[in-house]
Amino acid sequence: MTVRIDLHTHSTASDGTLRPAELVRAAAEAGLDVVAITDHDTTDGWAPALDALPTGLRLVRGAELSCRWNGERPAVPLHLLAYLFDPTHPELVAELTRVRAARLDRGERTVDLLRADGIDVDWWEIRTLAGGGTVGRPHIAQALIRAGLVATTTEAFGPDWLGERYRLPKEDIDVFRAVRLVRAAGGVAVFAHPRASRRGRIVPDTLIAELAGAGLVGLEADHEDHSPAERAHVRALAADLGLLVTGSSDFHGSHKTVQLGAFTTSIEAYEGIVAACSGVTEVASG
Ligand code: AMP
Ligand code: FE
Ligand code: FE
Ligand code: ZN
Repeated sequence: MTVRIDLHTHSTASDGTLRPAELVRAAAEAGLDVVAITDHDTTDGWAPALDALPTGLRLVRGAELSCRWNGERPAVPLHLLAYLFDPTHPELVAELTRVRAARLDRGERTVDLLRADGIDVDWWEIRTLAGGGTVGRPHIAQALIRAGLVATTTEAFGPDWLGERYRLPKEDIDVFRAVRLVRAAGGVAVFAHPRASRRGRIVPDTLIAELAGAGLVGLEADHEDHSPAERAHVRALAADLGLLVTGSSDFHGSHKTVQLGAFTTSIEAYEGIVAACSGVTEVASG
């Protein structure tokens, strides 16, 4: 029997649409054996996901960290998946708190920019509907849909909207600092969708090699935002650098069309991730 492992999903603790408890139930219903909860810049979903963990499902507690590489101007934004770290590590907690505040600031400025162009979106409504979860562009995309300006989230991320014209930078975590902090907190870092050129600028392989030297353990290859050629490139790079390769859905509930388990990770890569963590936070079994 194959073990089905999905190491990248979002709940209402950030920009997903299922509550953490609903997410783990949906993961079990989708036939997953292992699921990771990786909300943007928060661990708030961990406790409710754990409480609701269905029998037979294993939960990897994680987060997707908003990072940036300062090797180009302006800095290139990128995402690191951090697994099984100590959620009370003071410096890491401070960075996550700071980035969530930066997201609020950027969200409000984005809304100001839209309103200055006569677009009727309301910041307090957007914040309220985010329900206390980490605010991201998908929440603003929903406001554009409600206003009848775009039909889909994909359209809202097009160049006329949040993809370019109304895309503002935020104060993300320096990626080398993020890798160091995740390791210091006993966790493991994997580069999320490293070649997703359709989302915007990507970083050079030389940076990924440097990150591997700094303690990065894996690259996410199988992801809906990678073309087949991009997936192959990531696999080859991982082989060159001795990194693990993961695949995952990056499920966001109805904010995206992708389903849980649409892409999966091998048991070998999963075991490599678990072996690389310090054990401060362990995989939980339902
Ligand atoms: P933010 O973290 O606020 O910059 O927003 C990035 C988030 O928007 C990602 O985590 C995805 O959830 C979502 N996203 C990015 N690009 C797209 C896209 N083309 N279509 C739909 N959702 C997207
Ligand atoms: Fe997201
Ligand atoms: Fe991401
Ligand atoms: Zn994600």
